[in-house]
Amino acid sequence: MNFTGKTAVVTGGSRGLGRAVCRKLAEHGANVVFSYAGNTAAAQEALAELERMGANVRAVQGNVADSAAVKALMDTAVKEFGRLDILVNNAGITRDGLVMLMKEEDFDAVIDTNLKGTFLCMKAASRIMLRQKYGRIVNLSSVVGLHGNAGQVNYAASKAGVIGMTKSLAKELASKGVTVNAVAPGFITTDMTDGLPEAAKSSLLSTIPMARLGAPEDVAEAVAFLAGDGAGYITGQVLGVDGGMGM
Ligand code: NDP
Repeated sequence: MNFTGKTAVVTGGSRGLGRAVCRKLAEHGANVVFSYAGNTAAAQEALAELERMGANVRAVQGNVADSAAVKALMDTAVKEFGRLDILVNNAGITRDGLVMLMKEEDFDAVIDTNLKGTFLCMKAASRIMLRQKYGRIVNLSSVVGLHGNAGQVNYAASKAGVIGMTKSLAKELASKGVTVNAVAPGFITTDMTDGLPEAAKSSLLSTIPMARLGAPEDVAEAVAFLAGDGAGYITGQVLGVDGGMGM
């Protein structure tokens, strides 16, 4: 894998999976522009870590569900590094609750960030990638988008929607040198899953054939593969990274 001379935008790159993706792409030579929502301390920490690795990196605060912020994010990549080769749509949130109790604003917030945010970023990046006749878009879906999960109708809808958008955009851009794929992680140890009660974690473990939660690096490897030149004949696919959970 060699990303030297390539520029990647990773949304939500300050923590968790996004941060591991930034590290992996930077390790293989990419210039990295990552976004975050509002946790400046985590973003500064990620920035410092990537700079220590010798990476060319920029951090941009902004909501992925806001089209002006998304434009500013993509503009940063082009202005600072001249290109935008890789987009990883990773920013995401959960607002769990059983359907009868779920507040309308919790449904909207999850759809806004996870689904509309991915749409806005794909739209802004595709314009640039089409001009370049080259691009790699990798979207973060989830095993929950494929199989559902009690207490997560909003999240499942957003992540199933991401798969539909991935396949549709893949068809739109297939002949233009731009691939669009998704990864569907299972349960990965990040801040998002840290809050789960211990009982929920152990019952989850029993559903994972590999009998362990995933690490952010497990997902980063798959994202980097799909973002690489070696995956040039792969588009519209959903790659499970779930220890066998989705079999
Ligand atoms: P984390 O909660 O650890 O990190 C989320 C990141 O997204 C942070 O950088 C956060 O910024 C950023 N973010 C959140 N909302 C926005 C927004 N509106 N605009 C811009 N950035 C935003 O999440 P994970 O690393 O666990 O998850 C990353 C992705 O992977 C998500 O899409 C998630 O759905 C998906 N996924 C995760 C799984 C898991 O088990 N962890 C399993 C399957 C899929 P800030 O720090 O400023 O808030």
